[in-house]
Amino acid sequence: MSTHAPALKDRFGRSIEYLRISVTDRCNFRCVYCMPEQGLAWLPKQDILSYEEITEVVRQLAPLGLRRLRITGGEPTIRPDLLRLIAMLRAVDGIEDIALSTNGVKLPAMASDLKRAGLDRVNISSDSLITERIAKIARRDLGFDPVLAVQAALDAGLEPVKLNVVVMRGINDDEVVEFARLTQQHAVHVRFIELMPVGEMAHLTDEHIVPSDEVLTRVATLGALSPAEGPARGNGPAKYHRLEGAPGTIGVITPMTHTYCGDCNRVRLTADGRLRTCLYGDHEVDLRSPLRAGSELGPLFVKALSEKPEAHDLVRLKVGGLRALSEVGG
Ligand code: SAM
Ligand code: SF4
Repeated sequence: MSTHAPALKDRFGRSIEYLRISVTDRCNFRCVYCMPEQGLAWLPKQDILSYEEITEVVRQLAPLGLRRLRITGGEPTIRPDLLRLIAMLRAVDGIEDIALSTNGVKLPAMASDLKRAGLDRVNISSDSLITERIAKIARRDLGFDPVLAVQAALDAGLEPVKLNVVVMRGINDDEVVEFARLTQQHAVHVRFIELMPVGEMAHLTDEHIVPSDEVLTRVATLGALSPAEGPARGNGPAKYHRLEGAPGTIGVITPMTHTYCGDCNRVRLTADGRLRTCLYGDHEVDLRSPLRAGSELGPLFVKALSEKPEAHDLVRLKVGGLRALSEVGG
């Protein structure tokens, strides 16, 4: 059992112990639902938190009950010297789990070094198992093979390995069953995510969303599907199922059809040092200025939590859509 302080609770009684840290707003992909093709206006370098500053934020929040971290972006593996940040975060007292969200392109080259630096596990995002189709969805042809990335992560012991798939009707929904089959072959946790409306690409959701209930109906054509415990570490908003005898599981993440805000245990730190208490909406607090001025961050964190909204209303808000997840650390 942890001997550290219990996690802070927000005003709705949710324990907040999980911080998602965006280390860059840039990416080597331009996924159709995430970023405009030409990319966004990148943050100026001086606005981005240094690794020392990110570590200082974590060091100040750990005594308030922060236990788990996820490094995300943009694409975190393209920020130079990421291993150095992971080693620095690993050394912070109280941090029990460090995960990485990545598009997986660099994983075959980096997986074992990431593990050695102190990373515990990875989530890989890939919306297709077909290299040419990935290039179309990501609008960059990097010859990416997601199965190689999953294998590299498993070989390096970055477990549990989760594979995130945004399901889009007419674009990749014909691969749902193939993705589910992967869980019969590997100890991988495939998670199907409902397409959310983002920025100027928000209209994609109207045309292409596939509700998760429909995804599960398709998966069930492979065999009996039973409710399952999620992977041992890092249970987030997914609801898990298992095909009989499969080493891996199948999860669904349903921001559009069922909200899971009541169990939300997380907050986010943007690459330029803003604390966001909800992925949706505009609730954020600048931590960079007080950090650079040498002020204590704890009171600001406590105040931000007290203002964390009870729930998002993404379905109602979809006019106009969300800020790009690459900007806010999706
Ligand atoms: N680049 C990394 C990656 O792709 O995993 C980390 C950042 S990315 C913003 C995090 C996750 O957000 C990915 O799994 C991606 O598929 C998901 N995402 C981005 N935009 C989305 C949208 N409009 N709807 C659903 N999921 C989205
Ligand atoms: Fe990049 Fe991830 Fe956004 Fe795709 S989803 S553009 S890989 S940040």
